[in-house]
Amino acid sequence: MEKNLIIKVAIPSPLRKLFDYLPPLQDADLVVPGTRVKVSFGRKQLVGFVVQIAAHSDFPRHKLKRISALLDQQPLFSPTLWDLLLWCGRYYHYALGEILARALPKALRNGEPAHLATETAWRLLPQGEQIENKVLARAPKQNQVYQQLLSLHAEQPEKLLISWHELQSLGVDKRILELLSDKKLVEKVEFELKINQIQSEVHSAPILNAEQQAACQKMEARLGGFIPFLLDGITGSGKTEVYLHVVEQVVQAGRQALILLPEIGLTPQTLTRFTLRIGAAIGLLHSGLTDKERGTTWLKAKNGDISVLIGTRSAVFADFKDLGVIVVDESHDHSFKQWEGFQYHARDVAVRRAQLANIPVILGSATPALSSLHNAWQGKFNYLTLSVRATGASLPLLQLIDMRQQKAKEGLSKAVIEQVKTEVERGNQVLFFLNRRGFAPVLLCHDCGWLAECDRCQTPMTLHQQPKQLRCHHCGKQHGVYTACVECGGKQLLQIGVGTQRLEQTLQSLFPKISITRIDRDSTRKKGALEAKLNQVHQGNAQLLVGTQMLAKGHHFPNVTLVVMLDIDGALYSGDFSASEAMAQQVIQVAGRAGRAEKKGMVMIQTHHPDSVLLQTLISQGYNAVAKKILIERQQTDLPPYAHLALFTVEAVQSDSCQKFLQDARLSLQKHASEVTLLGPLPAPIEKRSGRYRWQLVLSSKQRGFLHRLLNSALDEIEALPMARKVRWSLDIDPIDLL
Ligand code: ADP
Ligand code: ZN
Ligand code: ZN
Repeated sequence: MEKNLIIKVAIPSPLRKLFDYLPPLQDADLVVPGTRVKVSFGRKQLVGFVVQIAAHSDFPRHKLKRISALLDQQPLFSPTLWDLLLWCGRYYHYALGEILARALPKALRNGEPAHLATETAWRLLPQGEQIENKVLARAPKQNQVYQQLLSLHAEQPEKLLISWHELQSLGVDKRILELLSDKKLVEKVEFELKINQIQSEVHSAPILNAEQQAACQKMEARLGGFIPFLLDGITGSGKTEVYLHVVEQVVQAGRQALILLPEIGLTPQTLTRFTLRIGAAIGLLHSGLTDKERGTTWLKAKNGDISVLIGTRSAVFADFKDLGVIVVDESHDHSFKQWEGFQYHARDVAVRRAQLANIPVILGSATPALSSLHNAWQGKFNYLTLSVRATGASLPLLQLIDMRQQKAKEGLSKAVIEQVKTEVERGNQVLFFLNRRGFAPVLLCHDCGWLAECDRCQTPMTLHQQPKQLRCHHCGKQHGVYTACVECGGKQLLQIGVGTQRLEQTLQSLFPKISITRIDRDSTRKKGALEAKLNQVHQGNAQLLVGTQMLAKGHHFPNVTLVVMLDIDGALYSGDFSASEAMAQQVIQVAGRAGRAEKKGMVMIQTHHPDSVLLQTLISQGYNAVAKKILIERQQTDLPPYAHLALFTVEAVQSDSCQKFLQDARLSLQKHASEVTLLGPLPAPIEKRSGRYRWQLVLSSKQRGFLHRLLNSALDEIEALPMARKVRWSLDIDPIDLL
């Protein structure tokens, strides 16, 4: 390499730029894009990534530091992944160093070499199984450990290796083991961390119905290149069966598949289904694993030792040797969007990745995102539908229950109570969906109207029963329950509204002999609690289920014949553009939990707005009809997908600082002539959270290109604003709501 060249390095820091360094004195020609380097940055030594080799720097050479060390001999990322990550930096206008670092497992991020994680174990050597007493007579400590090993071995003769983990927990000292090893009595063994098992006997696939067959054929005919599919199939229509078929083809051709799921909770059941059907190595990647496990899985996928990788959001950045297809299941789900920091949307990144890798991507859903449907209807996505349940079960009947002027019992209408009685007598299960945990959402003074609010968020605190306290669901703050009004001293404090705890209590008093289980974040905090509760439901040990959105997704309860939705009106009042879409999706997804097997299902939706066009259309014509209606509204009001948005959100202790920063940012943006509409600064709909005020500035444009060009021109200046250091600010490209 020429000596005068400049190395442009991405460094994990919030600054959206590359930093210039001089090549190292030795091995300068090994410096290529995609390798890691050690550099001094401020007073620290950091691991950065070589992005470009350039001829010029804006800084004089003598001011530049030299790269301290090269960490890789060759690029760490495959070419497609590298291109994808660079694209993410440009598209999301986010610091590239952070994006690159996040894509790697922890060890690599910290500058260590890539290798498969191992576990240490010890074993007795044959000559160690029987020794004469005198050998260890003068080494009591060694003798003690040795006796321990002998008895462990005697307990389980078939277990040859005793893991270091286990020995450590027994209080064994490593140095003693090493002394025994010197005497050739024991031996240390390193073995590879086991992360998956291949099933030797796989189940055969069911015979596909006509729609499934048609979908598979269309997909399998196009495995050789980029094509986005939208698989729009009602709940239980056999979408997973279609994925399995396509993935089988891809794996048989020697290539790999990536399956993205919205949440960890769904990974075990999907893993089981894939393991039972695909006779190849399958790996899992999600936040519930240890760094070691994630690191090993990452490397195995990269080396091609894993054929199918099932993972949550961030698995979209896993590396592969030869990726052949990407599946995004429940692709409408908001969990695919990262909420903080690097705010990417894994579904959108997946589509881009498929394009770069020249492979198909399948977006599956019973309630596709409006943006996906729009793309399908415009012909940008290949649209495939599955319209009947694969098991032959019929779709549940949806019914609106008019709550106006009803004498409801703690939020339950008479009609619902009657129907629950009937189902319970027949031995069926009933699911109550209420997206509000706690006992009552509001504590109100009957005399003066004072509300118990969180002073850090200015929103009402939720009353909880176990333990009895007030809790803020925005910031987690807790407060004892007031016995009198803080404003007027009045003693009549009303508990307004129904949360899951209250509903559970009401059901218990209505049906004292029936077993009830509640599944929400409070009741499943302990490790294993959710699995235990789900098991209880599956074994029929709970006949009434009360749950939040945790229960809405993916789970399959064959005995649930009635679903009751208690409080869905919130979306009808929400000012946010995304609320009606989210509500329609939720109703259909929750309804899909009813009558999945032989028994026919029914869904009762309690509402104070039975005449709402949205609800009427949804129950009489279905999700896609609602989607069309909402899309027409969006078109008339210039909202996504008819306009493209970017959202600046600012948080600060002083409301004025937020406003000032966004005013300055707006001035910077206005300097550049553009086809972008600026809205704000305005206080955010959630005006205060955790003691900080929140303000927004929305950028909107008919064409994505205008938005990106404007941000490219103005972001440097905005980043350098004096106020930028005094507030917390973020930029969200394609925000999914404006809260
Ligand atoms: P989805 O992913 O659309 O919710 P699944 O693939 O989970 O649907 O299928 C729902 C149920 O129907 C599963 O129990 C599955 O085993 C079964 N199933 C799917 N396809 C068929 C088929 N062609 N014949 C019989 N059963 C099927
Ligand atoms: Zn009062
Ligand atoms: Zn709060």
